[in-house]
Amino acid sequence: MPKNALLKTDEIGVFALGGLGEVGKNTYVYEIKDQIFIVDAGILFPDDDLLGIDYVIPDYTYLKENEERIVGLFITHGHEDHIGGIPYLLKQVKIPRIYASGIAVDLIEYKLGEHKDLRVPKIEEYKSYYSYNFKGVDISFIRLNHSIPDMFGIVFRTEQGPIFHTGDFKIDYTPVGPHAEYDKLANLGQEGTLLLVSDSTNAEQEGLIQSESKVGKSINELFTRINGRIIIATFASNLYRIQQIIEASELTGRKVAVFGRSMERAIEAGQQSGYIKPRKGTFASVDELNRYRLEETCILVTGSQGEPLAALSRIANGSHRQIKTVKGDTVIFSSSPIPGNQDPINKTINLLFRNDVNVITHGPITDTHTSGHGSGPDLKLMLTLIKPKFFIPMHGEHRMLKHHRGLAIECGVSEENILIMDNGDVAALTKDTIRQAGKVQASDVYIDGTGIGNIGSHVLRERKILSEEGLFSVVLSIDSNKKTLVTDPTVISRGFIYMKGNEELTSSLASDVKKLVLEQLPKKSYNELNLKQSIIELLTDKIYDITLRKPMIIPIIMHLGIN
Ligand SMILES: [Zn+2]
Ligand SMILES: [Zn+2]
Repeated sequence: MPKNALLKTDEIGVFALGGLGEVGKNTYVYEIKDQIFIVDAGILFPDDDLLGIDYVIPDYTYLKENEERIVGLFITHGHEDHIGGIPYLLKQVKIPRIYASGIAVDLIEYKLGEHKDLRVPKIEEYKSYYSYNFKGVDISFIRLNHSIPDMFGIVFRTEQGPIFHTGDFKIDYTPVGPHAEYDKLANLGQEGTLLLVSDSTNAEQEGLIQSESKVGKSINELFTRINGRIIIATFASNLYRIQQIIEASELTGRKVAVFGRSMERAIEAGQQSGYIKPRKGTFASVDELNRYRLEETCILVTGSQGEPLAALSRIANGSHRQIKTVKGDTVIFSSSPIPGNQDPINKTINLLFRNDVNVITHGPITDTHTSGHGSGPDLKLMLTLIKPKFFIPMHGEHRMLKHHRGLAIECGVSEENILIMDNGDVAALTKDTIRQAGKVQASDVYIDGTGIGNIGSHVLRERKILSEEGLFSVVLSIDSNKKTLVTDPTVISRGFIYMKGNEELTSSLASDVKKLVLEQLPKKSYNELNLKQSIIELLTDKIYDITLRKPMIIPIIMHLGIN
């Protein structure tokens, strides 16, 4: 019997702890000959309705319980939705080795350096021509193009046949940087691939995804056309884009200054690895920048997603110490909104307009950005080259996965050989069959700002009530001996009603509470918990009747004269 009770002898287990039904926290598990291979360990940036939650990570319970069978963690590339969970995974689970390549190694090392007291395993830096063997399972890599350098798909050669996990990719015939290894993909197809697990993010898009080098051309054109100072925001991880911005600046005689910690860090790593190649004297400090005319400068910043503390947001709201906008500045967003970020981005754009700044966002007229994920035609090319017998769409919300299934059927994969799964669903695979074998634990774990402790759903519910309905508190001073109130109840409200101008409402609520307390206090059955509960009930009803709102109600009872 295999050690995963859901699997039969000779079956391979494939499941996700994160990444299915969502774009984020990609964490995939392959169980082959009782060995556990983890592919990626990402985080998810939550929607606005998870208040105060910075990240969501997968539940690592299954990995913890099967720790001794883990062979290693294999990283496809350095995006946060693929490496952001590593510190949390290492905190809970012993991982013998991390396999990563190129810029991902730098980003992981930097990330782990920020988390103290971690058992950090050796990070083995693989190259696209390396292979590793684990008791009859052979692992190799295929370079693909994406919006960060060094993205590799992972091939597992098993007794049942090859399995290919694509990672994130798009087809780019004119990439910035090295080409994808299409020959390896075609050879894998020739070999007869058993299972393809492929990126679904842009499965619904029909048009071709623009080449990264085309974006470079359009940035060049913009830089030539714009007369004043340029402030440009992009993703810090897209080193190719950053290099193109540097080249456009050099082409148009602009000095470049960089603001934002993650951008500075990316440029440092990019220069070490050779992806960022500025000419001598291109980068300038703020002091140096001031010696040039505005039209001779370019400011490269973080904050393309409207993040409130990022450089661009602070420049927009005037709180940046070194950079103030002036009339005639142009701000370029070389990015597109990550779902959920449109509101903060709009806020930043509005602030910029207030400052009389020109704003250019990515759109049909100005190609300031392109996606790193292939659209329908790209995904079909992958399916056609690999010609898999079985197919599991991954990395996407449910509708993207379903769309991807449609594309696979169009490309000749039989419908019964395709599994659409949720996180935790285990696929069991033999050389002839695929079936859904059951479920492992795979829920969301919320990480609060500090990263200390996990936040339960009840805390989130409270934050939601507080943010939407506000808080209403009533403070009682009770003389326990005389069983009476020392003073009239005091009412405090935050985010519910403005106290000034609503004195009538608050004093009527306070006197209702007073009446209730004076009734209950002398009773033999009196206890504090019951009193609090009846105050909450009374106020909830009254407040709802008058205002149609349900703020959080907190009675606070202080006892005086206890002997
Ligand atoms: Zn990615
Ligand atoms: Zn991704």
